[in-house]
Amino acid sequence: MKKDWRLLNKVEHLKNKYINPTDGEEITKYAPYLKKCIFCWEEVQDNSHQWWFVPEDMTCCICEECYGDFKELFGWKELDGWDIKWNICGSNAE
Ligand SMILES: [Zn+2]
Repeated sequence: MKKDWRLLNKVEHLKNKYINPTDGEEITKYAPYLKKCIFCWEEVQDNSHQWWFVPEDMTCCICEECYGDFKELFGWKELDGWDIKWNICGSNAE
């Protein structure tokens, strides 16, 4: 497989990161400084149907397509997501 143009960006630091799933609406609300996919420059939209993935340090965001294309290459470990409503239904009291 040829080297993907999207990997020409500065993305080496993303290797083996823990990644949280989220959506465009949440990014717009909680992390408005994240504007584009770090790989393909797809723009973040205020849209809950647009999936995004962010590393724990929240320094960038990755669109759904790039996440799918590169998750094995980068060894990403997917987390449950932060502050995501469908993750807190039921009572897991500690
Ligand atoms: Zn992308």
